[in-house]
Formats: sequence, C-alpha cells, structure tokens
Amino acid sequence: MSETFVCRNQSCGTPWEQSEVVIKNEGQGPLFRCPLCGARNYLEVLEDEDGKVVYEQVDGKPFL
Ligand SMILES: [Zn+2]
Repeated sequence: MSETFVCRNQSCGTPWEQSEVVIKNEGQGPLFRCPLCGARNYLEVLEDEDGKVVYEQVDGKPFL
C-alpha cells in the first residue's frame, strides 16, 4: 500500500506519492518539499509490522 501525501500549502494542496518526492532531514525531522510550490511538509518516521521504515505526514509543525 502506498502512502499518499498532500501538500500543506492551502493554495497548492497537491497530492503526492512517496516515490514522487525527495525525503530529507534539515534538522527538524524528515520532510519533503513540494515539487510544485516548494513548501516544506513534515513527516514522521514509523516502522511497519515487518520493520520496514514508513513515513507518515504530520500536521503539527509550523508552516515556515
Ligand atoms: Zn505544494
């Protein structure tokens, strides 16, 4: 099952598959930048039942 992210920029709101974005860590935890508008979208790292790393989008961080 693939995770779908949605850009937090309200004027953008583009959905992305995980394979379509580059996930990196700039010191505040993992995030991806929306390929369309460049907004930072913060992620949480989780492990599934098989120990595989999965990313889940979080809403809590301030929009910079
Ligand atoms: Zn966007």
